Amino acid sequence: MARKRVVIVGGVAGGATCAARLRRLDEDAEIVILDRGYYVSFANCGLPYFVGNVIREESKLLLASPDLFRERFNIEVRLRNEAVAIDRQSRHVLVRDIDSQREYREPYDALVLSPGASPVRPPLPGIDLPGIFTLRTLPDSEDIREWIESRNPRRAVVVGGGFIGLEMAESLVHRGMDVTIIEMADQLMPPLDPEMAEFVRRRVATHTAHVQLSDGVAGFEQASDRNLTVRTQAGAAFDAGLVVLAIGVRPESNLAREAGLEIGDRGGIRVDSQMRTSDPYVWAVGDAVEVKNRVTGQCELMPLAGPANRQGRIAADVICGRDSRFSNVQATAVCGFFGLTVALTGATEKTLRRV
Ligand SMILES: Cc1cc2nc3c(=O)[nH]c(=O)nc-3n(C[C@H](O)[C@H](O)[C@H](O)COP(=O)(O)OP(=O)(O)OC[C@H]3O[C@@H](n4cnc5c(N)ncnc54)[C@H](O)[C@@H]3O)c2cc1C
Repeated sequence: MARKRVVIVGGVAGGATCAARLRRLDEDAEIVILDRGYYVSFANCGLPYFVGNVIREESKLLLASPDLFRERFNIEVRLRNEAVAIDRQSRHVLVRDIDSQREYREPYDALVLSPGASPVRPPLPGIDLPGIFTLRTLPDSEDIREWIESRNPRRAVVVGGGFIGLEMAESLVHRGMDVTIIEMADQLMPPLDPEMAEFVRRRVATHTAHVQLSDGVAGFEQASDRNLTVRTQAGAAFDAGLVVLAIGVRPESNLAREAGLEIGDRGGIRVDSQMRTSDPYVWAVGDAVEVKNRVTGQCELMPLAGPANRQGRIAADVICGRDSRFSNVQATAVCGFFGLTVALTGATEKTLRRV
């Protein structure tokens, strides 16, 4: 029998897990991981702590290398190779080797998309000024570290008071900065009920310089060589030598959309309970897909590592003929900042009133 050829787009949480599980289930399959980045299988959850110097060595964030994938699992990892189009008719992915700009076609029997989600960067005045960062990849965290080390900023603004924003705020406080958090909602950690979020605000406020709630950023100006001014919609202004935007992520569903795969109302790739897209030869997992919330019954985006890993395993199972199914999410998350641990699961009162 011919060997099955599985191509995986994205080699971090969902993609790497899927590849390893595929190898466990099928010794003969040809498995190719394409990732446009410089690293495979790194711990994005640790990035804020690498910026904060809590994790000091980059190597601690690297869970596996292309060599390890090849030697231990006989899986081929091609870094700096971007999937630019899918020809579903002939079952090929068009791939661009970013360094050589060479394009080639990669055939597949099964295709798994795990391209993740990209940080939102709204088109505000001054958004492209130096010193304004988002955090998704290891190179992003290296850039922020280098900025801190070369400029030694005293003040920072973190835009967004969700879990990545708060982890970043803690990390920058750890690096000795006065941190202001600007959050559009009237509470930190918007997925929490307000009574719970108040505990978070109080704890965060004792460690940061200022928490600005119910206010959004209007734009950024260069105030001096070393400082930006962050202006808010309510008319406040904050000095910052460093700004981190943590205002959410958008699913990377363009490749799927352009290939004519079904996209859901929230912009994520639509999949069934076996992580299959609207094309029976294409699966999708992780931050790029929409999942059903088992409490509300609604489709939503759940950009967390747990579901990405689980979905990666399910896609591998199904590709290998097993009847595994994803049992929907109940939005469970646990985070810790400034010595406080916050955990949530299920729906808030606000959500339940809305649905
Ligand atoms: C700073 C930060 C902290 C986080 N902390 C936590 C946490 O504490 N707990 C938690 O549960 N989750 C956390 N997350 C979220 C978690 O990392 C994601 O939910 C998870 O990584 C999603 O997995 P994924 O496989 O969908 O995408 P990713 O892990 O993002 O991998 C996608 C990969 O696909 C590649 N790619 C995209 N498009 C293409 C293409 N066309 N061709 C080739 N390659 C492509 C990208 O370069 C990327 O390497 C955090 C995320 C960030 C950014």
